[in-house]
Amino acid sequence: MGNEEPAVMQKIVSLCKRRGFLFQSSEIYGGMNGCWDYGPLGVELKRNVKEAWWSEMVTHHDDISVLPGAASAYEMTGLDCSILMHPQVWKCSGHYDLFHDMMIDCKESKRRYRHDQVRGRWALLDDKRVFVTAICEPEEESEALMARAQKCFGLRAKERDRIGWDGEVVSLETVEDFDQVFGPDAKETGTLTEPREFNLMFKTNMGALFDEKSVAFLRPETAQGIFVNFKNVVDSSRVRIPFGIAQVGKSFRNEITPRNFTFRVREFEQMEVEFFCHPDSSQEWYRYWRDRRMQWYKDLGLSDSRLILREHSESELSHYSTGTADIEYAFPFLPEGEYGELEGIAHRGDFDLRSHMEGKLNPATDPLEVEVDERGKPVHRGSGKDLSYRDPVTNDKFLPHVIEPSAGADRATLAFLCEAYTEDMAPDEKGEMQGRVVLKFHPRLAPIKAAVLPLVKKDGMPEAAQEIYRDMKREFPVFYDNKGAVGRRYRRMDEAGTPFCLTVDGQTLEDGTVTLRDRDSMEQTRLPVDEAKQAIREAIRC
Ligand code: ATP
Repeated sequence: MGNEEPAVMQKIVSLCKRRGFLFQSSEIYGGMNGCWDYGPLGVELKRNVKEAWWSEMVTHHDDISVLPGAASAYEMTGLDCSILMHPQVWKCSGHYDLFHDMMIDCKESKRRYRHDQVRGRWALLDDKRVFVTAICEPEEESEALMARAQKCFGLRAKERDRIGWDGEVVSLETVEDFDQVFGPDAKETGTLTEPREFNLMFKTNMGALFDEKSVAFLRPETAQGIFVNFKNVVDSSRVRIPFGIAQVGKSFRNEITPRNFTFRVREFEQMEVEFFCHPDSSQEWYRYWRDRRMQWYKDLGLSDSRLILREHSESELSHYSTGTADIEYAFPFLPEGEYGELEGIAHRGDFDLRSHMEGKLNPATDPLEVEVDERGKPVHRGSGKDLSYRDPVTNDKFLPHVIEPSAGADRATLAFLCEAYTEDMAPDEKGEMQGRVVLKFHPRLAPIKAAVLPLVKKDGMPEAAQEIYRDMKREFPVFYDNKGAVGRRYRRMDEAGTPFCLTVDGQTLEDGTVTLRDRDSMEQTRLPVDEAKQAIREAIRC
């Protein structure tokens, strides 16, 4: 992340590295762009996010209860599909033909850019008119463009006022004549190529032969594994529509400009549900999932003021969707008033099942049209398998409609990290107020739930503390720390986001009580060990 990131984001990034939440992938070799490794605390945090999701979406549902607010009883089940799938899956899903960005290359700097992300402005000097471009954060745009224009016209800083401007800053997409464009990293004009399609799927080869037939793709989303297994799940379990299938797993996209820490990366984890329902009740289910998913983020601590639910307008909707909403969060790396997507909830109609059944002719224009041979018989470019559903009770046969809540585990983890980051004041060993950094995670997400701290390293306190530590560790992640002044140990735990510290002192040895310190209020309460344990248990359950 460059120096331009807002100060708070820089602090979060450096805390993440310092305390072992996140490291740049392959750092000792200079790093791998768009890939990140979760460190000892990060891995626990992300596991807790995924676990909270799975528990909300799958394990806390059963097949008999009618949930409050739900349209009717429903079941939820899971899958764990392979990352490499039959190439035809991606043809029928549309990813092979449609999953691409328009890219431009710079012949001079050899850099590649997303066409829609290059922005610039027409700059004028004497009789020259050049579209000057820059890649930067919005708040730095005017200075960056001025610097580029100066370079383009070969002027010195004090000659800047000779430069005139024509119109506002606009996307390169508005420009037709590339000969007049001064690329973001170029030394002269006219070095950018025309936009070209660039597929975002990672390609690989399977087997010993490296030919066209052996080409396979790393999945760009987990959803397709669910669709192609729809029949298997229906036939092998006793689920009845409405029901949902959940999956958590890695996805890969060759993003052109990975950025903003773990927000846009090339290897990430998704948490997706495909919820299959009768077409007649699909709108109701769409609204149900949209609202329920929004509530999940709030329940785990994202504040109302930073979270929005954005319904897509008619023009934004995919041709098959009758409703899509994004849950978005005001990440600190975004300019004021802008939000980044955490999750999309889409009403996908019967598009996916139908595609895997029948295939598509021209996905862009005739998505549901079936190809026919010279005798008028349908040519199945899809699997040709009947993926419709027959209700075992009503005998009603139909192609289910699908509601898809699709979330990113890394983006959710990043949002919880950003939300948790707090700077406030706390007393030091001498009782003087000092600044402290604290990660105020919801106790359920916190990587470590409690720290057990002997007040001093003598008089039997370490032994008593270790006994409590071992006992608690059987139930939840606990940390034992006996190094340094107790105030400093509290601070270390605050930075790791540990909600409770249990201190063992002389009195513990006499009456079995400890002090329980609350991370956020810093209040300390004296209570028996069992009650302290119960308080922690309750906090992480809710
Ligand atoms: P964006 O518009 O930000 O590229 P998208 O609309 O393409 O996202 P979806 O295809 O709907 O995203 O994927 C579902 C979720 O997967 C997103 O809401 C996001 O949380 C996550 N996700 C998608 N692409 C990435 C990525 N490159 N890095 C991290 N998470 C991602």
